[in-house]
Amino acid sequence: LMPFAALRPQKPDALLALIAMHRADSRLDKIDVGVGVYRDEAGLTPVMQAVKAAEGRLHAEQQSKSYLGAEGDVRFAELLMKLVFGEGQSDARRFGLQTPGGTGALRLGAQLLARAAPSSRVWLSEPTWPNHAPIFAEAGLATRLHPYFDVESRGIAFDAMLEALQQSRAGDVLLLHGCCHNPTGTQFTLEQWEALAALCNERDIVPFVDLAYQGLGNGITADGEGAHRLLDAVPTALVAYSCDKNFALYRDRVGALFVQTPTSDLGEVTRANALALARSLWSMPPDHGAAVVRTILDDGELRLSWGDELDRMRDRLNKMRVLLATAHPALTSVASQRGLFSLLPIAPSAVPAIRQTHGIYMPADGRINIAGLNEINLPRFVEGLLPHLE
Ligand code: PLP
Repeated sequence: LMPFAALRPQKPDALLALIAMHRADSRLDKIDVGVGVYRDEAGLTPVMQAVKAAEGRLHAEQQSKSYLGAEGDVRFAELLMKLVFGEGQSDARRFGLQTPGGTGALRLGAQLLARAAPSSRVWLSEPTWPNHAPIFAEAGLATRLHPYFDVESRGIAFDAMLEALQQSRAGDVLLLHGCCHNPTGTQFTLEQWEALAALCNERDIVPFVDLAYQGLGNGITADGEGAHRLLDAVPTALVAYSCDKNFALYRDRVGALFVQTPTSDLGEVTRANALALARSLWSMPPDHGAAVVRTILDDGELRLSWGDELDRMRDRLNKMRVLLATAHPALTSVASQRGLFSLLPIAPSAVPAIRQTHGIYMPADGRINIAGLNEINLPRFVEGLLPHLE
C-alpha cells in the first residue's frame, strides 16, 4: 500500500456527475445536452447501418483473430490517409498507424514528440477539449495556452491567437482542431489555415491536427480541406484521427496517428520509433472497429450508405443549430458554428438554476451538445435558457 500513500485525491469527473444527476431525475421531459455523443431525434445513439452490415460480413468471413502488429490494420490506415491528406496524396514522407481512438493517437503523438524533442512546448487553445492538457502533460511535455475564443462575437479571436504565438519557440508544437472545435463549435476559414501554415513555417512550429469530427461539420471533403492545405504547406506535422464519432463506433476505440516528415529517410526512422512506443503503450490496437471502418471504406455500396447516414446526422445537427440561433439574438452565432458543441453565453451560476427549474442538464461552462436537442424539446430548452442569456 505504501507507494500509493503519496497519491492525491482526484477531482470527481463533472460530466459523470452530471450523467448521474440526469439519471436520477424522474421528470419525463428532462433534457440532456451534456454527454458528448451524437443523438438522433429520438435521443438515441444507434449503430450505423453500414457498420452493422460490415460487422455481419466480418462475422461471416473473418478466419482468424491472431495478432496483427503494432501498426494495426495497414489497409485501414491507408484508406483513412486519403480522407486526411486528399486522394492521390500518397507520399513517402507520410505514414499512418492505427491507434485506440483519437485519444490513443494524441497520446502516441505526444510520446513521439517527447522522445524526439522533450523541451518542445505544446500550445493549446483556451478553451479546448479537457483531455488535451493531461495527455501531453502525462507524456512529459509542457503545455501553454493561447487565446482562442472571442466572447463578444462567439467566434475565433484569430489576431489574439497569432499575437500570443509570437511567444512560441522553434520546435514548439501547435495543436489545432481540424474542424468542429470542441467546445466552441468554431472553425478556421481556409485563409486562416493558410495563415497558420505560414506562421508554422516562419516560426518553425510543428502543427498537430486533431481531426475528431470529420464529416460532422460541412461534409467529409470540406472538413478535411483546412488540414490538407496546412499539411501541403509545412514540412513536419502530426494528425490524430478519430473514427469514433463519424462512424459512431465510440466504445470500439478507432483512430489513427499520421505523421509527415521532411524526407522519407526521416519518415522511416520516425515510424520505427512510433512503433516502438506503441508496443510499450498497448502493444497492438484493438482490431474490430478498424476492421469495420476498413470494410466500409473498401466497399462502394457500404461507403455510400455510410456517407448518406453521416450526411443525415450532420444535416440534423445543422438544422438544430439554425432553430436555436433564431430563438434569440445572443444565439445567432450558433448557426455558423459546426459539430456537436457550442458554448452558450450564460453565467456558470445560472446552470444549476436551469437544471433545477427546467430539468436541463449541461456542464457549468455552458457547453452544450447540439445533438441533445430535437424539434420536440427545443422550445422547452429555449424557454429555460432565455432568462439567463447574457
Ligand atoms: N479530440 C477531440 C477534440 C475530442 O472531442 C475527442 C473526443 O471527445 C477526441 C479527440 C477523442 O476521441 P476518441 O473517443 O476517439 O478517443
